[in-house]
Amino acid sequence: MLRTVVSRLLPRLNRLSVCHYSAAAIPAPNTQPEIHYNKLFINNQWQDAANKKTFPTINPATGEVICEVAEADKKDVDKAVKAARDAFRLGSPWRLMDASHRGLLLHRLADAIERDSAYLAELETLDNGKPYAISYSVDLPTVVKCLRYYAGWADKWEGKTIPIDGNYFCYTRHEPVGVCGQIIPWNFPLLMLAWKLGPALATGNTVVMKVAEQTPLTALYVASLIKEVGFPEGVVNILPGMGPTAGAAIAGHMDVDKVAFTGSTEVGHLIQQAAGKTNLKRVTLELGGKSPNIILSDADMEYAVEQSHFALFFNQGQCCCAGSRTYVQADIYDEFVERSVERAKKRVVGNPFDLKTEQGPQVDQEQFNKILGYISSGKKEGAKLMCGGEVAADRGYFIQPTVFGDVKDNMTIAREEIFGPVMQIFKFKSLEEVLTRANDTQYGLAAAVFTKDLDKANYISNGLRAGTVWINCYDVFGAQAPFGGYKASGNGRELGEYGLENYTEVKTVTIKVPQKNS
Ligand code: NAD
Ligand code: MG
Repeated sequence: MLRTVVSRLLPRLNRLSVCHYSAAAIPAPNTQPEIHYNKLFINNQWQDAANKKTFPTINPATGEVICEVAEADKKDVDKAVKAARDAFRLGSPWRLMDASHRGLLLHRLADAIERDSAYLAELETLDNGKPYAISYSVDLPTVVKCLRYYAGWADKWEGKTIPIDGNYFCYTRHEPVGVCGQIIPWNFPLLMLAWKLGPALATGNTVVMKVAEQTPLTALYVASLIKEVGFPEGVVNILPGMGPTAGAAIAGHMDVDKVAFTGSTEVGHLIQQAAGKTNLKRVTLELGGKSPNIILSDADMEYAVEQSHFALFFNQGQCCCAGSRTYVQADIYDEFVERSVERAKKRVVGNPFDLKTEQGPQVDQEQFNKILGYISSGKKEGAKLMCGGEVAADRGYFIQPTVFGDVKDNMTIAREEIFGPVMQIFKFKSLEEVLTRANDTQYGLAAAVFTKDLDKANYISNGLRAGTVWINCYDVFGAQAPFGGYKASGNGRELGEYGLENYTEVKTVTIKVPQKNS
């Protein structure tokens, strides 16, 4: 039944981009899903933290504690790395497993997640605050698709034969890097898990994953599915815990071969430093952004307003690639601002389990305070507050959809990542000007341009220094297409075939070929 609903939904989602879905096809959620797992997952076993510490995970819609969760520290990281190392040893079940069977296990994991989609979506909404309609019809199907995509790669990631000079047979083998530390954020807890596990497991690595302290619950449930579908012990270890303790222990671990991190640019620096100070582990980083979204005067106004609204407000504004600098050409600026304000005022903010809700709470008190701080800085520095700007409920971390007009490039809200429902609109005149301004940032994650003129679209798209450019659309992702940042937005690419490179060591093997038979 569930499967039919999801497969009926998927073509619609693909066609219309992720902001549109049919609420009618979504089953009514259980707003109090049972919590089955709250411990560390090491070696396919549930364990308390070595020091017995726990921390509360909070429902951001109410501020109430959902449950206590075991808090991993350095000792637990050591234990998990040992388990992952042992699972990776030569001759282990995982190393001996056929590549096609690794693919099969990933397929089975995708099937189990799909089977339990409604429950996982409820848990994601409870712990993170994102609307259930989105968890169910966007996050969960995307997770399943990502795992299936990488399942397919497991026995297709081929090396080459290379015609070197002399009588030699030279070929490359694509081998796993080894034990991979993966540190993920809270904005898309399940999706970030899938982006990280998919390529790592398809290529035969083992994993120690630290999940975000704000949203540990769905990853722990997935851990139970990893065991259920038959991954050998120690291949995947999942640790809830804090960044400066458990996260730092992974980044600085001498026996971790690679670390993949998604989160703030600030912590990205620390991860790279820790790798440099220890064993030079491979580092891939997917960090922040301040992505320009450029609207030319010939764009379809209604569509551009809706897409720009979605580009910024989707996921409570908590997207690394949010279109957080909306540049609008001068001759349509006034109308665009007016319509964007109208749209923001209509945005439905409230209980994330209500299927009509478009915007739930921010993830925690810290993010909530940080965003309100940015709103006051915008007002102080002279941007024009067009709507919102206030707290939206008397409990939980809700913030009104907020739009600033007349934003100048040097204002704090124009330069720093706000990670909340706060839109900045800028005015520009010429294409050359907007390109220079769009690129004048430390970041380079994503960008978009809206126009009907192909030449202009290509001119802007080629000139933008960003890892992803959307033309006449926003936030369109496919597991098949790479994603990652230029400049301080990161290092390396996730998803697609490119995503496999970060989980692979290339071994060159050269064999002497005798010239004659003797
Ligand atoms: P963060 O970078 O602190 O957290 C991301 C992950 O890194 C979490 O798992 C966290 O526990 C871990 N971490 C934190 N400190 C660490 C350390 N010293 N060593 C190793 N791991 C560490 O992000 P945050 O504090 O949750 O949010 C702050 C800002 O980061 C947000 O406002 C937003 O701008 C940005 N952010 C970006 C993304 C993204 O998708 N790129 C996701 C979340 C947050
Ligand atoms: Mg939480």
